[in-house]
Amino acid sequence: MPELPEVETTARGIAPHVSGRTVLRLTVHEPRLRWRVDPKLAAWAQGQVIHGVQRRAKYLLLELDRGHLMVHLGMSGNLRVLPLRTAREAHDHFDLEMDSGWMLRFTDPRRFGSLHHLTADPAQHPLLRKLAPEPLDPAFDADYLHQVLRRRSVAVKLAIMNSQLVVGVGNIYASESLFRAGIRPGRAARSLTRAETAALAASIKAVLGDAIRAGGTTLRDFVGADGAPGYFSQKLFVYGRAGAPCRNCGTPVKQRVQGGRATYWCPACQK
Ligand SMILES: [Zn+2]
Repeated sequence: MPELPEVETTARGIAPHVSGRTVLRLTVHEPRLRWRVDPKLAAWAQGQVIHGVQRRAKYLLLELDRGHLMVHLGMSGNLRVLPLRTAREAHDHFDLEMDSGWMLRFTDPRRFGSLHHLTADPAQHPLLRKLAPEPLDPAFDADYLHQVLRRRSVAVKLAIMNSQLVVGVGNIYASESLFRAGIRPGRAARSLTRAETAALAASIKAVLGDAIRAGGTTLRDFVGADGAPGYFSQKLFVYGRAGAPCRNCGTPVKQRVQGGRATYWCPACQK
């Protein structure tokens, strides 16, 4: 599933190819995405200039003259920049054709992605207005995390994956952040000391920042027909490494299921 770093890299990857361009035509081949695409959307977008690309949580927002196009990549979606009239394949669901001779194509085999048009402030959209802070924003800091964790008895890993507390910390990044901070994933959120909370906030920012930097090397993959942008090859310390020696101390990495998801930790490095 595309996580926050992949979505951020998508925004950075497509921005130079769409910013300043005019929409010639938006063709929706398959409106049955996670939410049905509004039949009026294509006519609305036509002729508008694309001013830029932003990200909020895992939503991409393309700013147009009269509002925004909002795209979610779902479980399996991707966006690529291709020459106009590139042959359509089975899972290509919409094409945003531009006056540059190129188009932005959305491909999504599982169709959990989405496309909306927003004519009001995106921050007030029902899908966005209740979202918690971005982990890379200054507002997400040790004080904020301390305030939200100290009132919760749930396991700390589940707390940092709760998008009502902070957005975009997926399973891989939650495990890796807790390893870096030296905190066991099963600890009650409210048991963390002030110093541990500060270390965890910093680790979440560092792990996501590293993943985005790793993704920077894939930016060219957004243009051209040679396959979809992949996941970032990032050095993982614990995730997916059950039984393998901890990269820090050599102790075998442990695994258990927590909240329906696999969790990994080093019993020596994490307290
Ligand atoms: Zn270790």
